[in-house]
Amino acid sequence: MTQKWDVVIIGGGLAGYVAANYLAKTNLSILILEKGAKVGGRARTDRIHQQYFNLGPHALYKKGKAKPILEEFGVQLMGKSPKQSVTLIDHEMKYVAPFSPLGLLSTNYLNWKERLDWMGILLKIQQMNLAELANLSFKNWVVQATPSLKVQSLLFILARLSTYCHGPEVLSAKLIMTHIKIALGGVLYLDYGWQSLIDQLHNQAVIKHVKVQTRTNVKEITQVDDGHFRLETSTSKNITARYVISTIGPHELNQILSESVTMTQRGFFTDINSVQGATLDVALTELPDAKQLFAMGISEPMYFSVHSHYARLSNHRNSVVLHVFKYYHNKEAIDGKKVQLELEQFLDKVQTGWQKFVITKRFIPQITVNQRFPLVGDEQKLVPRSKTTIPGLYIAGDWASPDYILSEAAISSGKAAAEAIISKEME
Ligand SMILES: Cc1cc2nc3c(=O)[nH]c(=O)nc-3n(C[C@H](O)[C@H](O)[C@H](O)COP(=O)(O)OP(=O)(O)OC[C@H]3O[C@@H](n4cnc5c(N)ncnc54)[C@H](O)[C@@H]3O)c2cc1C
Repeated sequence: MTQKWDVVIIGGGLAGYVAANYLAKTNLSILILEKGAKVGGRARTDRIHQQYFNLGPHALYKKGKAKPILEEFGVQLMGKSPKQSVTLIDHEMKYVAPFSPLGLLSTNYLNWKERLDWMGILLKIQQMNLAELANLSFKNWVVQATPSLKVQSLLFILARLSTYCHGPEVLSAKLIMTHIKIALGGVLYLDYGWQSLIDQLHNQAVIKHVKVQTRTNVKEITQVDDGHFRLETSTSKNITARYVISTIGPHELNQILSESVTMTQRGFFTDINSVQGATLDVALTELPDAKQLFAMGISEPMYFSVHSHYARLSNHRNSVVLHVFKYYHNKEAIDGKKVQLELEQFLDKVQTGWQKFVITKRFIPQITVNQRFPLVGDEQKLVPRSKTTIPGLYIAGDWASPDYILSEAAISSGKAAAEAIISKEME
C-alpha cells in the first residue's frame, strides 16, 4: 500500500513543526514522520516525579529570530527572564560576574582598569559590523579585542553561555558574536518547559489537518522517475511525496539518501561535527542556599542555573528544578563517570549539601546540543541552506543555517524551507 502526500517532513522537532505550521496555510497535504514515540525532539520536556525536566538547560532568546516566528503562530510564551546576579567560580574562589550594571559595580573579579576595558568591549559588541568577522576564529577576535586575560576569560564564558560552544580557537567569530549580541537582549525560561512550545505547535498543526505519525523511522529516500520521492520507513507502508523536508542531522540524512540521489552538499554533510555537552537535571525539595541561583565556571566549562525560580517547572509549589551543565570541547574524549562527579562537585560548590534534598535527578553524559559545531570558514563552505541541489528536497534543523545555531537556526530554517516550497508552488 502506498500513501501519497504533497509534503513529507522528516522529524517532529521544532524545525519540523514550524515548517508544518507554515505549510498548513496552503492546501498541500502534509505528513510529519517522527521516529520517536513522542514528538518534540530535543525540545522535549520529560515529566519525572511531577517535575518538568527539559533535556538540559533551555532558554529562549528574547531578541532572536525564533521568538517572532513562534508568536506569528500565536504560540504563548509563558515564563520569565533570569535576573539574579551570576557567580563566577574558579576552583574554590567565587566572584560576582560583571554581567549586569550592578555586577559591574560590585564585581571583585576585575580591577577598575579591567572594568573599563570590559565595558568598552560590551559597547563595541552592540555596535559591531559582524561581516568584518568572517574568516576569524573567536579566540583571534578575543585576543585582538583585549590584552587582559581576565576580560578574555569573560568573553569565553559569555560565548559558552550564549551558544553552548566550547573551542574558541576553531569557532567562527561571526556566528558566536551574532549569538552573543542576541543573548545580551535577555532570555526566557518557559513554564512547563519547551514541551509547551511543541504542544502548541503540534495542536495548531493537527487542527490544520497536518498528519503526525510517530514511531516511524525513515530508512531510505529515493527519487523516482517522475521526480517524486519514495520513502522507505520502519512501518510496512510505502510513502511517496512531491516535496520532502528533512530536519534530521547531516550524518543521518547522508545515510538515508539512496545512492542514486546525488547532490553537491553531500560531501560537506560528513565533515560536520556537533556541539556536545553533559547535563545533570535536578529537582530538590528546597535550595540549601536560596541566594545562589546562577553560576558559571571560569577555568572549568560549567553552568548552573535554578530554572524554577523563574519558570513553573513542578506540580509542587515549593520544589526547585535546576540544571548543571558541562560544555564539551570540540571532539573531547568523554568519561561519563568522571563528568558526573565533576557536575555534582560543581553543584556542591554553589549549593553545599544539595544531596539531602533530592526529589529526583537525571544525568545525561553526552547529548547533542546542536547538530553543527560552527567552524571558522563554514560560511564560505557549502553550508546547507533550505534548498538543496535536488529539486523538491529541502533541509531544515539547527545545523541548516549558515548564520545561526540552536533553536534560532531550527526555527528560522523550518520557516525558510516551507517558504521555498510555497514559492515553488506559486511558479
Ligand atoms: C542540553 C541542551 C540545551 C539546549 N539549550 C538551548 C537553549 O538554551 N537555547 C536554544 O535556542 N536551543 C537550545 N538547545 C538546542 C535546541 O533544543 C535544538 O536546537 C532544537 O530543539 C533542534 O530542533 P530540530 O528540529 O532542529 O532537531 P530535533 O529536535 O533533533 O528534531 C529532529 C527529529 O527528527 C527525528 N528523527 C531523526 N531521524 C529520523 C528518521 N530517520 N526518521 C524519522 N524521524 C527522525 C528525531 O527523533 C527528532 O525528533 C539545547 C539543546 C540541548 C540538547
